[in-house]
Amino acid sequence: MAGGLYDLIIIGAGPAGMTAAVYAARQKARTLVLARDVGGQLNWTLGIENYMGYQFIEGIELIRKFEEQVRKFPIDIKIGRAIESVVRVREGFSVADVDGTKYLGRTALICSGKRPRMLNVPGEELLRGRGLTYCEVCDGPLFQDMDVAVIGGGNSALEAAVDMTKIAKRIYIVSLTPLTGDNILKEKAKEAPNITIMTECETMEVLGDGMVSGIRVKDLKSGTEQVLEVGGVFIEVGLIPNSDFVRDMLTLNQLGEVMVNCACETGVPGLYAAGDVTNVPAKQIVVAAGEGAKAALQAHQYLQKCV
Ligand SMILES: Cc1cc2nc3c(=O)[nH]c(=O)nc-3n(C[C@H](O)[C@H](O)[C@H](O)COP(=O)(O)OP(=O)(O)OC[C@H]3O[C@@H](n4cnc5c(N)ncnc54)[C@H](O)[C@@H]3O)c2cc1C
Repeated sequence: MAGGLYDLIIIGAGPAGMTAAVYAARQKARTLVLARDVGGQLNWTLGIENYMGYQFIEGIELIRKFEEQVRKFPIDIKIGRAIESVVRVREGFSVADVDGTKYLGRTALICSGKRPRMLNVPGEELLRGRGLTYCEVCDGPLFQDMDVAVIGGGNSALEAAVDMTKIAKRIYIVSLTPLTGDNILKEKAKEAPNITIMTECETMEVLGDGMVSGIRVKDLKSGTEQVLEVGGVFIEVGLIPNSDFVRDMLTLNQLGEVMVNCACETGVPGLYAAGDVTNVPAKQIVVAAGEGAKAALQAHQYLQKCV
């Protein structure tokens, strides 16, 4: 077991995990944070206008501030660790990463957030990172003066398309359904002179020999197909919870989110979950941070009762 016995192991270093770490450390809990990256979805967020205390802050800057605060405390932080399993053991929980390294915690907290959903069409796998991306915020500037397609019709897709109006030449929004995003974003997309909106259209294939050169689109109303010649494809069809590693242990809802009660309890004593990976509504930074704080305090109470 690496590092001995921790009071609390936190899986994830997004807003939920980092806030939980600070709360746990302030309770003098021996705390370990294991995560693939620092910041989670904040890495994909350009500007934030609704995290209190900052009228505007870039995602990267907020991560830096969160991390700075976490590192002020004696918290063990291991980044670049993909967790594969959490198992109940006599001492509490054994948490294993993909390399087989195991960590032991008296309690554990799942803050593993969400990841982009795939389209699952031919060409997607082959052209990923070769003009096909799931993060306009990260990769948008690479497509200067090009024609691009944004796949999806919700808020992420509309935000991506509107953002690309300053960078790309032409943007096609290709949505399987009528647009479902917020009205304000729909209006912005409709008003933009370089956005073409194609609803009830299915993306059948991403085309390209080495790099993206287009997409094959089927109009579901007429049944006709056409090829859009684009150099970039942004897949913005939503997010899925990173809950696979507790699938067999915990109750998940139909979206794959970990079911918790208002005390962030999962139903397994000593095992908590917080943030976007859970069924708690409103997937926002302030909510994830608040839930992380709550979960850490609940874990502390649990540990107090156990001694
Ligand atoms: C493009 C975009 C823009 C957004 N804009 C805003 C905004 O303006 N305002 C706002 O309030 N919210 C915004 N959000 C939502 C906000 O980013 C999320 O609600 C918030 O980041 C959720 O925090 P979290 O800690 O629960 O999860 P995440 O941020 O998803 O962090 C998850 C953490 O878990 C880690 N992890 C995942 N799986 C594993 C594993 N198997 N093993 C180890 N570690 C793992 C990840 O590496 C990461 O550290 C935006 C989201 C996106 C995608």
